[in-house]
Amino acid sequence: MLNKQLFALEGKLGTSVLDKIEEPFIREHGIELWLKRDDLLHPVISGNKWRKLKYILDHALSFNARKIISMGGAYSNHLHALAYIGHALGIKTHGIIRGERPEVLNPTLSDLLAWGMTIDFVTRSEYRQLRAYKNHDSLPGLQAGEYWLVEGGATVQALQGVAELVDELAMDYDVVCAPCGTATTLAGIINAVSEAKQVIGFAALKGASFLAADVQQMLNNKHGHNNRWYIELGYHFGGFAKVSPALLGFINDFEQVHRIKLEPVYTGKMLYGIYALIKQGYFKSGQKIIAVHTGGLQGNRGFANFS
Ligand SMILES: *Cc1c(COP(=O)(O)O)cnc(C)c1O
Repeated sequence: MLNKQLFALEGKLGTSVLDKIEEPFIREHGIELWLKRDDLLHPVISGNKWRKLKYILDHALSFNARKIISMGGAYSNHLHALAYIGHALGIKTHGIIRGERPEVLNPTLSDLLAWGMTIDFVTRSEYRQLRAYKNHDSLPGLQAGEYWLVEGGATVQALQGVAELVDELAMDYDVVCAPCGTATTLAGIINAVSEAKQVIGFAALKGASFLAADVQQMLNNKHGHNNRWYIELGYHFGGFAKVSPALLGFINDFEQVHRIKLEPVYTGKMLYGIYALIKQGYFKSGQKIIAVHTGGLQGNRGFANFS
């Protein structure tokens, strides 16, 4: 049974609905595009961060963990959500941040401190080395009651929460699309949908061909890397958190037309990619596509004139 405190917190979350995205070109291709609005779950613990953290924290609390230690970038949605939940549940949190401490903390880092997370800054090479510690008890120097959570919450526990997103899809569909950082969310979707569905990930980082193997590993090679799922590598716009005028223009137009906010790190790139694939005729007429809005809108504060 889910930890009581987590259950209570979940009761306060918003409802993730399915919104149909109407555009003349989508209709002309005979496609239906729907957006699974996980961004509506919560302004901070939005989207896939709640999905992933739910059973991770349940796991940590089952060990009576008193402090969760994790890592992320200076605008990390993962640390932001973790700090908030820690604050809400009375669990201590510690964040190891990539790069030098900025003279003035950005809004994301300020929030972490406001929610009681302690933070440390490490060099990029130290940061990379931390990726070697893959188990909750494997970080050197860990004290009793401390729980180590890998970058982005990329653990098997995360898959269980993502499966609940799939369970909520109360319509017929052919394809599910999701943006990929660590591709944990994508792995959770692949694991949860029935065999007949196609799943497409959109990599937010450049040179992310390694992600397919990461997904295979998270799924214990249970789901062959066949036509059933793949990761689009062509819509990173120059790299992680890199943007172009075309991308920002797309996001602004999307917001104007559909009254739905996106952000340029993940969801904007995914939807840009989906639009491109539809226009290229990649999808068959009659197909219904569900794209997951994974939230993360707080990260928009990292982009000048774009919030
Ligand atoms: C963290 C994040 C992702 C990436 O999720 P992974 O499970 O690491 O692939 C996608 N979208 C948003 C908005 C995120 O914050």
